[in-house]
Amino acid sequence: MRALAPSPPRVLEAHQLMADPNDKVPGQPAGRFYVDTQCIDCDLCRETAPANFQRNDEEGFSYVFKQAETPEEEALCKDAMDNCPVEAIGNDGETETES
Ligand code: SF4
Repeated sequence: MRALAPSPPRVLEAHQLMADPNDKVPGQPAGRFYVDTQCIDCDLCRETAPANFQRNDEEGFSYVFKQAETPEEEALCKDAMDNCPVEAIGNDGETETES
C-alpha cells in the first residue's frame, strides 16, 4: 500500500481576522484607530479606552468617537486593539501622538 504524501501544514492567515479599513463602521473621525463591522459589541474597548470608544446604541456596535490625543490614550487604544476578541479594531498606522 502506498503511503499518502503528507499534507502541507495549514497556515492560519493572520489577515483573516484583522480589521478591514474598507469596512469601517460609520461615524468615526479620520485618524489612526477605527472599528470595523466585525464588532460584536462586547464592551471591552469602551471599558479599556472610554475617552476614545463609544457605543452606537441604536445599531449595537462600538466606534472611535475621538482619536487618541495623548500617549496615555494611545496606549489604551492599542491595548483595546490587542484585546478585541474579534480583531475589529484597526490601526491605520498614521502618526502616533508625541510622547
Ligand atoms: S472590543 Fe472589539 S468586539 Fe468588543 S466592542 Fe470593542 S470593537 Fe467591538
